[in-house]
Amino acid sequence: MYRSKTCGELRLADKGKTVTLAGWVQKSRKLGGMTFIDLRDRYGITQLVIDGAADPQLVEIAESLGREFVIQATGEVLERQSKNPKIPTGEIEIKVQKINILNKSVTPPFTIEENSDGGEDLRAKYRYLDLRRPPLQRALALRHRLAQEIRTYLDGEGFMEIETPYLIKSTPEGARDFVVPSRMNPGQFYALPQSPQTFKQLLMVAGYDRYFQIVRCFRDEDLRADRQPEFTQIDCEMAFVEQEDVLKTFEGMMRAMFKNAVGVDIPNPLPRMSWYDAMDNYGSDKPDIRFGMKIHEITKQVQGVGFSVFDSAEYVGAINAEGCAEYTRKQLDELTEWVKRPQVGAKGLVYIKLNPDGSIKSSVDKFYTPEQLKAIADALEAKTGDLILVLCGPKRKTQTQLGVLRIEMGNRLGLRDPHVFAPLWIVDFPLLEWSEEDGRFYAMHHPFTAPKPEHEKWFYSDKKEDLERVCANAYDFVLNGSELGGGSIRIHNADMQKRMFEVLGIGPEEAEYKFGFIIHAFQYGAPPHGGLAFGFDRVCALFGGQETIRDYIAFPKNNQGRDVMIDSPSKIDQVQMDELFLASTVKE
Ligand code: ASP
Repeated sequence: MYRSKTCGELRLADKGKTVTLAGWVQKSRKLGGMTFIDLRDRYGITQLVIDGAADPQLVEIAESLGREFVIQATGEVLERQSKNPKIPTGEIEIKVQKINILNKSVTPPFTIEENSDGGEDLRAKYRYLDLRRPPLQRALALRHRLAQEIRTYLDGEGFMEIETPYLIKSTPEGARDFVVPSRMNPGQFYALPQSPQTFKQLLMVAGYDRYFQIVRCFRDEDLRADRQPEFTQIDCEMAFVEQEDVLKTFEGMMRAMFKNAVGVDIPNPLPRMSWYDAMDNYGSDKPDIRFGMKIHEITKQVQGVGFSVFDSAEYVGAINAEGCAEYTRKQLDELTEWVKRPQVGAKGLVYIKLNPDGSIKSSVDKFYTPEQLKAIADALEAKTGDLILVLCGPKRKTQTQLGVLRIEMGNRLGLRDPHVFAPLWIVDFPLLEWSEEDGRFYAMHHPFTAPKPEHEKWFYSDKKEDLERVCANAYDFVLNGSELGGGSIRIHNADMQKRMFEVLGIGPEEAEYKFGFIIHAFQYGAPPHGGLAFGFDRVCALFGGQETIRDYIAFPKNNQGRDVMIDSPSKIDQVQMDELFLASTVKE
């Protein structure tokens, strides 16, 4: 046994015991003839003391220890004279009788403590050292706890965890595939799954009516801040269910996770909002409902007084930033520049300030009387001290811009406390999305999503307006402005699936080539089924009160999709290239 106790375990009650600890030297300092060492393992930090008057050999070893040396130390637990209330072991220290150096360490490139002095790139390169730091240990411990809660809950509900293959054929989630060349099948490629979607549906056909898997998925997308090329989903599917059954089951899972992993009670039942209401009121299909500041349409109110910008707009909408009337000219100019950034894309920003002295000031004073401005303020329930921000343009685009502005103002006003949780379901998504550019419909979710039964009549219509009206039997789980998961009731009837491919402009040959296996399977008694998947990395980050998922993944990739620690991706040698029948077109 290398140790009798961990570095996080000893308390005053252990006073007088002789113990052996093992761990890493975080810090060593000499003070008044004594050497003090902070010894760390994943359970905590314990202070070791070596008296200068002790055995000279022991003193010599103690003084030779560098940062991150791995040692084993035996000694007696003493009450500390100067206690450290910040750590659980802060009332005791170990008076060391014996030190055994288990391994030396070269000097680490950054400090391995709660807050490190190392920059992000350096820490990524030495991820195994960064992982020794408590914040990352806490993140991975939370991830582990959540995974256990998920398994316990789903097992209790009769779900079976079944693995599906990684070397497959393209899946229909709409991103680019990562591909793997096949040596045994020259010129042919596997695709890595963007999700196990088709396999879990085949498992339903196979009769495994409650399936889940905590599974890696791969999508070759340009990486935005919190995306990873490989990420983990809690992937689930159920047979003989309707939307209501799926929502109830997974609300239950979320409730157990919140309760048992972070001690939070979420509402029962969870709120539900239609996609249309989410867009109209929050300008987002993943609304953050921790705060109000809802979007109001004021198109009719502002048109017809000769302000051509508003007169020619399809839609004019506004939000009320409460208490922001003191925004200076400079701050308003800055905000105007902010909404004009390509990430937001607005053409300009109109404001109405309800000054503390009762007067109203607006960037469009010229066109509107104070009474007219007051009427707009009343429509937004704005009061003295508030600031109304107005955008205009095409309806959905402008709502989305207002949604982005709302989140920004929510951040600026401190309305988005990461430790407050406001989950909800978004339902009634449109089934199809028209792309002007490509002149065709795309599936908003994926092509296996069923239309709502009451909208089937429009689904079989040839009119674009009818097809645009069809709602999907789909749902998203949203938390604090992030989509944590989504899914749908699936099409389980081969004819309806054929119609879907037709609507999406996927011809019979292409459908057969890409999805023949599932179309065939559906001819053999496919049960009604549906499911969903949660993004597990993001679930972990949000439960941990963080925005970025990287800390919750042991070995993540950077924004260029690189693992800088193992230096991948990298070239392969010519022999491997030849074996795989590959030729590179990259110019050296
Ligand atoms: N496969 C879907 C996704 O990855 C989730 C689902 O429909 O179950 O988004």
